[in-house]
Amino acid sequence: MPVHGLDTRRDDGESGRATASRMKGLHLTKVSHAYDGVVAVDGVDLQVAPGEIVCLLGPSGCGKSTVLRLAAGLEDLQRGSITIDEAAVSDADSGAQVPPEARGVGLMFQDYALFPHLTVQENIAFGLTADKAEKRRIVAGALAEVDLSDVAERYPHTLSGGQQQRIALLRAVVPQPRVMLLDEPFSGLDQYMRQQVRQETLRVLKSAQAATLMVTHDPEEALYLADRVVVMQAGRVVQDSAPLELYQNPQSPFVARLFGPANEFHANAQNGAVVTPLGQFTTDLEGEVLVIVRASDIEVHDAPQPGSTQHAVRSARPLGAVSELILEGANGPIEVQSDIQQLPASGSTVHALVDAQRVFVYLKP
Ligand code: ADP
Ligand code: MG
Repeated sequence: MPVHGLDTRRDDGESGRATASRMKGLHLTKVSHAYDGVVAVDGVDLQVAPGEIVCLLGPSGCGKSTVLRLAAGLEDLQRGSITIDEAAVSDADSGAQVPPEARGVGLMFQDYALFPHLTVQENIAFGLTADKAEKRRIVAGALAEVDLSDVAERYPHTLSGGQQQRIALLRAVVPQPRVMLLDEPFSGLDQYMRQQVRQETLRVLKSAQAATLMVTHDPEEALYLADRVVVMQAGRVVQDSAPLELYQNPQSPFVARLFGPANEFHANAQNGAVVTPLGQFTTDLEGEVLVIVRASDIEVHDAPQPGSTQHAVRSARPLGAVSELILEGANGPIEVQSDIQQLPASGSTVHALVDAQRVFVYLKP
């Protein structure tokens, strides 16, 4: 079988050995997929190194699950190629298509699909090929690691959602797959459980050292779990960045809008500056621009600050860690999420201050 997908963009003249080691893990090259002629995935390039966790982030319907199913071999590849540890597992040109069970991938999907007629320990042992004693040792060790030894003999329907999630995760990782593929692994859990379980999931995935590709539509979850976040929009990759880089330097309005409420101002940039209802900011762009300032990137003060703007308070409501303030702006309301200790009265005056680093300016398309 030919080894396709050599990533020439990354061939930057380093030794052949370094290049080869970069080909370990999961590589998708120019992958496209259509359902009945309707394009769902459009020219996706994606690399996941061994030990790395990459989150595929985007709204419902943008093609995330299709990418994952292609990597798993659950869909035949129509265009492009996919390699795992340098071996082609899908190649549209040659028609090569390694079946899912022969790819060395661990799968975990939304509905954990534990086998209902098998106990917890039988579920976890399912994909193991070791002898009986060795299986028992591996399963016991895995259960102890997530503090679930006491449910080994139980059946899945007697477990909480969070417990089922962890068992499904263990079932996927104990065979030590080279690649782990997870599709919205927390979607069946409530907000509180999600936060508990994701810490543990991160620990288990990091110790498994597989190349992990995880689908999520939750931006916060992606930032928390990922070494790298790949954002998809309408079948294409629109940004591929480390989590903080994605948050601090969104390369498009689409990405800037992912992380909580944001204020948007249409403005005209001239001579290196743009004027907005939140003040004047520098920019390299010229002409019609869209300025985005997240609600959480605005501070409010009682007294004027250098560079602050003055606003009447329309409303102030607590949310918990932060409070939501709606301020009167020159062209309409401005939303703020601030950790102020005292809520200002409606109609009172406050001074808003924006960190210039957190003002995102985009040319209008
Ligand atoms: P996501 O996981 O990001 O929600 P999907 O990969 O599931 O997105 O779907 C991408 C697009 O492909 C959507 O428009 C969806 O309706 C369509 N699609 C997904 N699976 C099928 C299928 N089996 N048959 C037809 N269309 C599909
Ligand atoms: Mg999906």
